Amino acid sequence: MTKKPNILIVYTGGTIGMVKDYGTGALKAFDFSQISNKIPELQQLNCTIETISFKEPIDSSNMNIDYYVEIAEIIASNYNSFDGFVVLTGSDTMSYISSAISFMFENLQKPVIFTGSQLPIGDLRTDAKENLITSVQIAASSNNGEPIIQEVGLYFEYKLYRANRTTKISAEQFEAFTSMNYPPLVESGVHLNFNYPLLLRLRGDEKELVFRKKFDNNIAVLKLFPGITEKVVRSYLGIEGLRGLVLETYGAGNAPTTKWFLDILREFVEKGVYVVNVTQCAGGSVILGHYETSSDLKNLGIIDGKDITTETAIAKMMYLLGENLTKGQFKRYFELPLRGEIRE
Ligand code: ASP
Repeated sequence: MTKKPNILIVYTGGTIGMVKDYGTGALKAFDFSQISNKIPELQQLNCTIETISFKEPIDSSNMNIDYYVEIAEIIASNYNSFDGFVVLTGSDTMSYISSAISFMFENLQKPVIFTGSQLPIGDLRTDAKENLITSVQIAASSNNGEPIIQEVGLYFEYKLYRANRTTKISAEQFEAFTSMNYPPLVESGVHLNFNYPLLLRLRGDEKELVFRKKFDNNIAVLKLFPGITEKVVRSYLGIEGLRGLVLETYGAGNAPTTKWFLDILREFVEKGVYVVNVTQCAGGSVILGHYETSSDLKNLGIIDGKDITTETAIAKMMYLLGENLTKGQFKRYFELPLRGEIRE
């Protein structure tokens, strides 16, 4: 008889861990170690489940790099004892968090599935049960003793996505996330349908898990809009210690061709600030040099964000800034898929 998979649920906070006090109507956090009492269906899954909870669960709006490291340390220190991990966070910043965690682990060979819910676990119409049960089931799925998912995923409303391809798109629908530039890894219907050709697998021989937690958050995001003033763009130049700028441009990576705008970008580059061009569009890709309006950016040596999401550009920027790379290496690594987050 083969051993049952051992799954660790890490609870950090968010709506999923709340129950309604039917006396007062207020939502309050519940003791997550009692999860099997709240969802007895979990006991029917063919796996053993353990839980670890943040001492003080947080709303995901309060997430930061220290919490990323705390989540990743829980996974790293339990990596050898468990077959898979399910991480519960609030959905509001789940794409940012899960994306960051994907960069923290190099050579990951076990599933790390992020999930949460729009309605608390104690609500009658909750989406928490399905999200949690199926996430555990996916985390426990294996083929010939090998986990099927060997990357960081995000499961919501019947779909598992590659986490670093996701964006939260709805504060209302149960289908809160989408992944415009990469299809779902798993779809849950009557069966769990794994899209095998899409799954990440290690390319090299290096199999040892490498934990990278030196993130640098000296970065900013600048979203362009028609009518943006020189004063606003220039103010970013004055940010002390700024090392990276995620520039949200239009369409296929287009930006104004006015002299003042290009002069400011040149100043960033000369100061050694890394500027990456990502599109404001939910889907599609930057194609630098496709239009005249992006040729100047290309000539300035701005990094091509291709089809990366803003959430993931932020995580990747923080990650690569922590890695002491040369200018050339930084640009090269940013433009290459490291965890399946960007097209080749
Ligand atoms: N505000 C909550 C959070 O992100 C929403 C949720 O849990 O989905 O923590």
